Amino acid sequence: MQLSITKFEKPVYVFEPVLPDLNQLHEKLSEIWASKYVANMGPQHRLLNERITEFLKVSNTTLFSNGTLALMAASRALDLEGEVITTPFTFAATPHSLVWNNLTPVFCDINPVDLTINPARIEEMITPRTSAIMGVHVYGNPCDVVKIQEIADKYNLKVIYDAAHAFGTTIDGIGIGNFGDMTMFSFHATKLFNTIEGGALCYKDEQLMDKLNLIKNFGIKNEEEVVMAGFNAKLNEVQSAVGLLVLDMVEEEQKKRMKVFDIYKEVVDRLDGVEIVNTSDESVHSSYQYFAIRIDAERCGRTRDEVYHKFKNYNVFTRRYFYPLCSDFECYRDLPSSAVANLPVAKQASKEVLCLPFYGSLLENNGAESISHILRKVIVDG
Ligand SMILES: *Cc1c(COP(=O)(O)O)cnc(C)c1O
Repeated sequence: MQLSITKFEKPVYVFEPVLPDLNQLHEKLSEIWASKYVANMGPQHRLLNERITEFLKVSNTTLFSNGTLALMAASRALDLEGEVITTPFTFAATPHSLVWNNLTPVFCDINPVDLTINPARIEEMITPRTSAIMGVHVYGNPCDVVKIQEIADKYNLKVIYDAAHAFGTTIDGIGIGNFGDMTMFSFHATKLFNTIEGGALCYKDEQLMDKLNLIKNFGIKNEEEVVMAGFNAKLNEVQSAVGLLVLDMVEEEQKKRMKVFDIYKEVVDRLDGVEIVNTSDESVHSSYQYFAIRIDAERCGRTRDEVYHKFKNYNVFTRRYFYPLCSDFECYRDLPSSAVANLPVAKQASKEVLCLPFYGSLLENNGAESISHILRKVIVDG
């Protein structure tokens, strides 16, 4: 069968925010307007905090105005010092959050299957200055949380996870926010669950709650006491209300994404040299945050960049995510751990990965089918 493949009329991007029904939002806003309580951890904030804790199956949650400030608060709350071992295969916010706490990021290579930090490489990166490991659950696939905890216990290190991609990911039914000392979630509009901008930290140790509340609210303890140099990272009532409505939409969105996943998979599985980046662990339920493929130029006959550029001819804007590596940023490239020889797997991955548009509404008008046909065409015919 010859399929005619045409250019999309409007540009198609990798993300599309899940947005609540405007009438429902209007009702919520009327409630907030009537109360005149629009900021400073009011009723919407409290309710969202409870609902997130329940949804993520965690013990404690503190909300923030974005994920980056949440990550910065995590390092501060755990009193980290010196060096933190992390991955170069992540978004800029991960290492930046360390530098803003006067910590030095030490880049550790990743494993070639799910592209998360490779525990087999962590021990050799540990020095007397190391205080923690900061892993990233890339594309919603979890790090090897068991091995990482073993290493942390052996060397007395803290563990922080960047779970910006992993809202709703579970391992054996256990919420991903239960591993390590603290886990950060981002609620940015591009993430599966969003409050337009927002974020959270989840943690087991209840004693951290007071400290996190001080950090995110100027260090103000009460009317007369300011006990530390905190910053301002409070999620406001309007954004909390958006979150309450979006949270009810997450499961439906995930179901739709599973269908998009299957449509793409059928095509990808039959392409030589193209593979879906996925966990091999059957106990994992993924968040379905991204659909990432790896293109092996030699086996496939096309480079990732060729495919990326060809897609644009069809008005489809895929993302080379994560490229460049954080270790190649101007602000990090001179670190000893940024040396190419230290990061061969991450280097190769950043040349081969491509994220395709991935959201529920691609099921409308055969959007997902069209994208998968374009993928096949640009790979097979060029
Ligand atoms: C989105 C993202 C962040 C930052 O979150 P913000 O809420 O935008 O500050 C951090 N890490 C990763 C891996 C992300 O994808």
